[in-house]
Amino acid sequence: MFGRAPKKSDNTRYYEILGVSKNASQDDLKKAYKKAAIKNHPDKGGDPEKFKELAQAYEVLSDPEKREIYDQYGEDALKEGMGGGGGHDPFDIFQSFFGGSPFGGGSSRGRRQRRGEDVVHPLKVSLEDLYLGTSKKLSLSRNVICSKCNGKGSKSGASMSCSSCQGTGMKVTIRHLGPSMIQQMQHPCNECKGTGETISDKDRCSQCKGEKVVQEKKVLEVIVEKGMQNGQKITFPGEADEAPDTVTGDIVFVLQQKEHPRFKRKGEDLFVEHTLSLTEALCGFQFALTHLDGRQLLIKTNPGEVVKPDSFKAINDEGMPMYQRPFMKGKLYIHFSVDFPDSLSPEQIKALVTVLPPKPSSQLTDMELDECEETTMYDVNIEEEMRRKQQQAQSEAYEDDDDMPGGAQRVQCAQQ
Ligand SMILES: [Zn+2]
Ligand SMILES: [Zn+2]
Repeated sequence: MFGRAPKKSDNTRYYEILGVSKNASQDDLKKAYKKAAIKNHPDKGGDPEKFKELAQAYEVLSDPEKREIYDQYGEDALKEGMGGGGGHDPFDIFQSFFGGSPFGGGSSRGRRQRRGEDVVHPLKVSLEDLYLGTSKKLSLSRNVICSKCNGKGSKSGASMSCSSCQGTGMKVTIRHLGPSMIQQMQHPCNECKGTGETISDKDRCSQCKGEKVVQEKKVLEVIVEKGMQNGQKITFPGEADEAPDTVTGDIVFVLQQKEHPRFKRKGEDLFVEHTLSLTEALCGFQFALTHLDGRQLLIKTNPGEVVKPDSFKAINDEGMPMYQRPFMKGKLYIHFSVDFPDSLSPEQIKALVTVLPPKPSSQLTDMELDECEETTMYDVNIEEEMRRKQQQAQSEAYEDDDDMPGGAQRVQCAQQ
């Protein structure tokens, strides 16, 4: 232990929102979310803020990875770590949970049937794809119920109960842990894969060999809409692997935006870096910027305008299209750097002094100069230096660390 207590941050709020305990199972979470989300759905006159909070809490706690981060470091860590876009539309989460409207209207999903697993695929897209919208055809293979035996696995439609597990589908192993201690463990029977049934060799369906399902190739057309975000999900309900007596899960594509060599995206806005020469910064410039759709944008200064290093300029309506409102667009920000010359010749200096604003005159008299000490300045990479100093301080803190909390702080004081 390095004696540095992690920053205390709230990691109970999400549990409180859902009204579950900290050790709630995935099932508990689902139940709690379902109940509360239906009750608070804005379509049913619920409070939209509360509905949003529920979705947020459920989104985090239902994802084991996010839940772990949340439990350890709280909400802020997630906000920092989730990267781009942040949370999702609470209605999307609600939709994906129920796979359609839970209010009235023939929901095909029985409540008593087992639900098959969703299959999640990452889908790499370019920033151009998200700007212009695109469609991608993807060929996937999936299990479908065997058409010959209708998922029975046998010619006769009959099955026998599995002799290995007596038809229960589960087997119990007993381990002796000590003279008077035993541990019972339950696991699915591997003879019948937990179904409790077997089919005699003679009666096996010739198409699926008794497996009840066969592999099928299917081409899905994924429509990537303009303005979609990195991490956004595109769901094909009920297209995952089929299995007997199971409600088929969804195929879910999660968009993963590839880095763009020129543009960075933040929400609806685009950022681009541009380096000017000193002459361009002082005397004006124009250049053509190729946009994501191939259009050439003319970027130019107003006459007499000086562009300062590390400044930004914005162009309206040249950012990303907004999702489902593609006629509205964000801004395009240009971040300017200025390349200064490393040195100047005496002639250049002479020429510049005549045109540039005069220097502030030196206030030092010869006497005062005599009083001064000579110094030597040299170039530093300040970020590098600060990083090195911090690392040094840290490693000293670790070496010095005993059981005293706040060890790092103590060392810092001692250094001065
Ligand atoms: Zn069995
Ligand atoms: Zn079959």
